[in-house]
Amino acid sequence: MVKMVACPHCGRPVEWTEISRWRPFCSERCRLIDLGDWIEENHRISDPTDAPSEDPPPSEDGPPHH
Ligand SMILES: [Zn+2]
Repeated sequence: MVKMVACPHCGRPVEWTEISRWRPFCSERCRLIDLGDWIEENHRISDPTDAPSEDPPPSEDGPPHH
């Protein structure tokens, strides 16, 4: 029974065994490329709390007066 995983970079099936040295990647190359991508991604990561602001429109209504 060998568990197969998909290489996160190229999607090739990789045997999840001790001889698959770069698991879950299929090769050192994929691992390095993916790691590099991740690091670059990290440099320009956007704020995860980037939700649309729900500020209410400014209201000039004061208490009613006559
Ligand atoms: Zn790969």
